[in-house]
Amino acid sequence: MTDVVIIGGGIIGAATAYQLSLAGLRVHVLERGAPVSGTSSRGEGNILVSDKPPGPELELQKFSSRLWAEFDESDHELDIELEEKGGVLLGVAGNAMTALHGYAEAHEAAGVHAERMDAAALYEREPNLAPGYPGGLFYPGDLQVMPVVAAFEMLRIARRNGATISPYTEVRGVKVDKGVVAGVETDNGTVPARVVVNCSGAWAGPLTSSWATPLPVEPRRGYVLVTSALPHVVRHKVYSAEYMDNVSSSDAGLQASLVVEGTKSGTVLIGASRERIGFDDRPRAEIVQRLASQAIAVYPFLADVRLIRYYQGFRPYATGHLPIIGPDPELGGLFHAVGHEGVGIGLAPATGRIITEMILDLPLSVDMKAFAPSRFSEESRHDVPV
Ligand SMILES: Cc1cc2nc3c(=O)[nH]c(=O)nc-3n(C[C@H](O)[C@H](O)[C@H](O)COP(=O)(O)OP(=O)(O)OC[C@H]3O[C@@H](n4cnc5c(N)ncnc54)[C@H](O)[C@@H]3O)c2cc1C
Repeated sequence: MTDVVIIGGGIIGAATAYQLSLAGLRVHVLERGAPVSGTSSRGEGNILVSDKPPGPELELQKFSSRLWAEFDESDHELDIELEEKGGVLLGVAGNAMTALHGYAEAHEAAGVHAERMDAAALYEREPNLAPGYPGGLFYPGDLQVMPVVAAFEMLRIARRNGATISPYTEVRGVKVDKGVVAGVETDNGTVPARVVVNCSGAWAGPLTSSWATPLPVEPRRGYVLVTSALPHVVRHKVYSAEYMDNVSSSDAGLQASLVVEGTKSGTVLIGASRERIGFDDRPRAEIVQRLASQAIAVYPFLADVRLIRYYQGFRPYATGHLPIIGPDPELGGLFHAVGHEGVGIGLAPATGRIITEMILDLPLSVDMKAFAPSRFSEESRHDVPV
């Protein structure tokens, strides 16, 4: 019998399959579509410490960034394009610079290196910026990866270690025997398993609603624009402080804050929008226009550059903005690893490692209380003061 069935072949399912197979477990990944065809094929691939204030998510990210570096150094067939590119947080004149310095101080206390830049240091790092910025922060620990290639590489190694992957297989529910998981029900029949890990991303809410603790996960749509390949004109990930406000906002309406970055292949990625409108994928030209004009205001040379495409995806947004990682509080043998919203690429290796530690009942590398699915259980819901 398969030891562990994983529902979903995105980067979270891939990282979990990779880690479980390294630990010697027999793994079977069930994916409704083609592997890595969901949200993991739609993101920029940032692995950021800079956008997470001190707290549980930053601690998980620090661990995950280390695992990304280890994964990059392990045996590979494909180049996962991991770059130690560094992130630049742009300052604006006045009080905002004082606030940025306070943010850097808090990060340093949490063990994250943040360099304060005056205008000269900023323009030395990013010479093509529009004039007038007073400075900013530089985070050398911010990385970038090519998420699709990295996820495929994790799946390839998992298969080499004995895992099986069934694409075009839709999970409809779980099979329960004597109160614990005994397998999953799919459109191709039942797959027996002792443990099931739910890595179904933005679709976790409707998928699990009838057989697990209801998970408040819903899609948060985002756009990214891609330019033609350019020389090395945007050297880091560059973003505005407003970006962080939008990331942490629970507003369902459209938000579009500036993120611009070059990639190893020369394209420049321009983001990022956020809106909660269900799984509506109808294109909206005004989002493309808004993201493009914001980017041109910061990098004026972009006005003469051709956009070759844009893509959109559904971030798996969980109420409260923290991923949901851990055992289902009501059904034995079921684990969840969903709700990573805009940070699932960055957090994938840590998620896979922690789920493996939980299944094998090992000490956890990071304190995971804040991520526990039990925060949404019936009992916890009754605890919420009204
Ligand atoms: C525009 C944009 C930019 C982003 N940029 C970044 C970034 O720079 N850095 C970062 O860390 N994150 C980023 N993200 C977020 C990141 O892409 C996600 O957090 C991450 O991809 C989630 O991975 P996942 O494996 O949970 O989801 P997915 O990749 O969506 O995988 C879930 C899989 O489950 C499958 N599935 C669902 N239901 C079933 C079922 N019933 N049966 C079988 N299979 C099922 C789906 O088909 C899907 O393939 C971005 C997202 C967007 C949209």
